[in-house]
Amino acid sequence: MKVLTNSPEETQDAGRQLASTLVPGSVVCLYGGLGAGKTVFVKGIASALGIDPRDIISASFTIIAEYDSSPPLYHADLYRLEKGADLEDLGLYDYMDGQGITVIEWADRLPEIEAEGRVKVNINLVSEDTREIIIDVDE
Ligand code: ADP
Ligand code: MG
Repeated sequence: MKVLTNSPEETQDAGRQLASTLVPGSVVCLYGGLGAGKTVFVKGIASALGIDPRDIISASFTIIAEYDSSPPLYHADLYRLEKGADLEDLGLYDYMDGQGITVIEWADRLPEIEAEGRVKVNINLVSEDTREIIIDVDE
């Protein structure tokens, strides 16, 4: 699926729409450079789960933000992931194996997490306010 959005609100809407297809255990991998709109997209997923989008802030890889929604939302950002970081310590695999919805910004920093069933969201900057969002499911 491919959509063009012309504002942050439209990107949030796209996230909200994707959320309706997610189930407990879903893992959403987000790709795109700094300022692409990954966090904005996550705000949309969050709002569909009843979380105030203002509570979604730039996550960091050391602290995976957990939200007590139903199903719970786990938000990670691997931007600053260092080579050789201890992935077990990170706890990311436990989250991905759990019954929440895990969303991971900069998922390409950790090719190991690519697996069957992952939802992949690529966000490309088209112009200052326009983004191309490409969503597919790995099968
Ligand atoms: P990332 O998490 O990918 O680094 P953010 O979501 O934090 O990026 O920031 C995206 C920035 O781009 C925000 O400042 C937002 O207001 C702006 N922006 C402009 N147009 C759009 C759009 N169509 N979709 C998403 N964000 C947009
Ligand atoms: Mg971000």
